[in-house]
Amino acid sequence: MPSGRTHDRITLWSLPWIVLLTLSLTRDGMLTLLVSAAYLFSGLMFGPDLDIYSVQFKRWGGLRWLWIPYQKVLKHRSRLSHGFLIGTVLRVLYLGIILLLVGMVGIAIAQLIGGFAWNWQTSAQQAKLGLSHYRAEAIALFVGLELGAMSHASSDWFGSTAKQVRRKGVGSLFTRKPKKRRKSRRKR
Ligand SMILES: [Zn+2]
Repeated sequence: MPSGRTHDRITLWSLPWIVLLTLSLTRDGMLTLLVSAAYLFSGLMFGPDLDIYSVQFKRWGGLRWLWIPYQKVLKHRSRLSHGFLIGTVLRVLYLGIILLLVGMVGIAIAQLIGGFAWNWQTSAQQAKLGLSHYRAEAIALFVGLELGAMSHASSDWFGSTAKQVRRKGVGSLFTRKPKKRRKSRRKR
């Protein structure tokens, strides 16, 4: 499995290709910027390795605690963090729910102190309207995030496959692993 630094290098070296590819496909500067920025963000701090104490996790600085429940629930390199689409979808939902909760608490406190008017229904409608209005931009952001995650997951896969070939030879790729026996549950 490549180190955090190798993952960073792969992200940075592949960025110009992502820019060129997106620009040639979309012919749109704004969408290219969004895909590239999301790709960089995903590669450097929003990637699959948030499921472990990693460089990506450390880059969240004072906010890194946000990812502790995520790490507690997911096993490192599980399909739910490293899998195609599902990894990014879950991370986006996870962060979205946390931001929503923080926002709700913040608004509730501000309402108590300042007593300003806030209507959840209107805000939800506005958010929905905004999302439908900026659909292309939202898709571009998601595509960038997913590309960053997939660049990570595929280099993980190449790294461990190369290691296996070096250790056990090419033939080991075609032999089935023996099934692990389930641990018997301890009596409580
Ligand atoms: Zn990984």
